[in-house]
Amino acid sequence: MDRIVIALTMANGARIRPVCRTGDCTWRGCAWENRWSAERERADHRLDHLTSQTRPYTEVWDDSCAPGGYVCDRCGMPVESEPCPEHAPAEAVNA
Ligand SMILES: [Zn+2]
Ligand SMILES: [Zn+2]
Repeated sequence: MDRIVIALTMANGARIRPVCRTGDCTWRGCAWENRWSAERERADHRLDHLTSQTRPYTEVWDDSCAPGGYVCDRCGMPVESEPCPEHAPAEAVNA
């Protein structure tokens, strides 16, 4: 699990913008006029990371290799014929 790192950076006009440096996350917040708003947005995004680690398994469309297909959103395993054995809930695998 990646450590959650969200930096507060200076943006144009002495504004403060939170920028996520967690793993491969590319999230950037708004440029805020006051530090308090930036800190609040940073806290919100930190929560996104915390909750995303426990979010339910989903299958997402991946067209990176033609003709495309549904893959596990956690590990990229193709799930066209059967659910991901590692990340699908037990009910889905046994169905
Ligand atoms: Zn992030
Ligand atoms: Zn998986």
